[in-house]
Amino acid sequence: MKTLSQICVSKSVHYMTRITVAKGDGIGPEIMDATLEIIRAAGAQIEIDEIEVGEKVYLAGNTSGIAAEAWDIIRRNKVFLKAPITTPQGGGYKSLNVTTRKFLGLYSNVRPCLSLHPFVSTKHPVMDVVIIRENEEDLYAGIEHQQTDEVVQCLKLISRPGCEKIVRYAFEYAKQQGRKKVTCFTKDNIMKQTDGLFHQVFDEIAKEYPNIENEHWIIDIGAAKLADTPEAFDVIVMPNLYGDVLSDVAAQITGSVGLAGSANIGEECAMFEAIHGSAPRRAGQNVANPSGLLQGAVMMLNHIGQTAVAEKVQNAWLKTLEDGIHTYDIFTEGVSKKQVGTHEFAQAVIANLGQRPTLLKAVSYAANAALQLPKYQRKAQRNKELVGVDVFVHWAGTDPNELAQHIKGIEIDGVKLSMITNRGIKVWPDGFKETFCTDHWRCRFKPQDAKPLSKAQIIELLQRADQKNIDAIKTENLYNFDGVAAYSLGQGQ
Ligand code: NAD
Repeated sequence: MKTLSQICVSKSVHYMTRITVAKGDGIGPEIMDATLEIIRAAGAQIEIDEIEVGEKVYLAGNTSGIAAEAWDIIRRNKVFLKAPITTPQGGGYKSLNVTTRKFLGLYSNVRPCLSLHPFVSTKHPVMDVVIIRENEEDLYAGIEHQQTDEVVQCLKLISRPGCEKIVRYAFEYAKQQGRKKVTCFTKDNIMKQTDGLFHQVFDEIAKEYPNIENEHWIIDIGAAKLADTPEAFDVIVMPNLYGDVLSDVAAQITGSVGLAGSANIGEECAMFEAIHGSAPRRAGQNVANPSGLLQGAVMMLNHIGQTAVAEKVQNAWLKTLEDGIHTYDIFTEGVSKKQVGTHEFAQAVIANLGQRPTLLKAVSYAANAALQLPKYQRKAQRNKELVGVDVFVHWAGTDPNELAQHIKGIEIDGVKLSMITNRGIKVWPDGFKETFCTDHWRCRFKPQDAKPLSKAQIIELLQRADQKNIDAIKTENLYNFDGVAAYSLGQGQ
């Protein structure tokens, strides 16, 4: 039989959540200490395993910025609160942020951007936008190659599972938070395959949420509208690179990047942080604003089910800003009442625990919980037919007609050169002499008489290219899926 003290211990252990904490570099340790002090004072039931990541680890010769044992702790605890780190320039150092998101499958990056008008100066007093950024793929796959003297490439990978997961997350988030609209930003007028898939999946999934308005904007005009009229948006979902850029823009126009936090959510693990960096010039001076990391910690408390503590912290934080107790980055003469340091700001929030803002909208997190999304179900394979091949060639000449004559020399029975492009624009047949050409040429071969192509024929083409000293640097197969061409045409074709 258990004694009373054993029962009490097991009860408290039951409610405790073990989290991993990294204090990071620059202003990281100061803002982390302030954040932990606030959430503990509010009653957060957390036990902490602290790990070392960032500059010290990099400079000790580990180019990943994190030791293997630290990964074990992160994976065991599954919840990670991370202060910003400094990534040394050059030297092959890998961004730990990108690695962590991808290793742990943290596919969804959630960044709420809220104006705190009139207490924090902003040109956009009624802004309340949540950016939901795909976090694992797109150009951040980081697959890059130099193939010719003049041309380097980066592969933009967009997957159906990646699109389905992030778009569903955005709609589920909107539903849980009582938000009215989800907007999608892509550039699918240009990238018809990659951004086209993201948009298509958005349209498919939006149909499952008839009570939430949905819309799509081309990213360029969408970004302009967001910077000019953010009140027109509610939740915005977008591929990785656009989300990286626009979430900083959105946070900055609320008044300061120092105010925004971010949640990186996966199926098993989650990481919470500020959106800003380690601000090395401000380090060790007790001046940094801990609000961004505190916002990350509030999202973490909601994620681990400590919603009452999250609510208490958030309302005290709003009250403190409303009281005009401001760090240097948001201090404005005539608006702010008192300029304080990191530690004093934390003490002011702690003194306000239990209070709610009067003019700013107080939060209620009763309905918050970690979102549970269905696992991605792989779809039935489609009918895939090889209908051509693009052979990319390194050639230092300038006249596409001359190149076409060389390349025609490798044609095989029934498979003919149909087009040459340079940086995507068609230069043969019927190119313009004004088109600037590099040394990187795409030569498209198509079977005649609409017959399928075989892999053996591609190998034969490459063998003939090799025999004729044509420098074929890579190939891309052209496929039809269920009879529909799934590759881009040449521009101008
Ligand atoms: P930064 O975000 O550190 O600083 C940009 C500007 O904002 C600076 O003027 C800084 O003083 C100010 N600032 C940032 N946070 C603040 C805060 N909490 N309070 C008050 N002022 C604040 O960006 P940077 O200077 O481009 O990058 C510095 C380092 O941070 C680099 O090594 C970069 O790689 C790293 N970084 C890390 C992360 C991360 O760990 N998540 C994110 C971005 C940048």
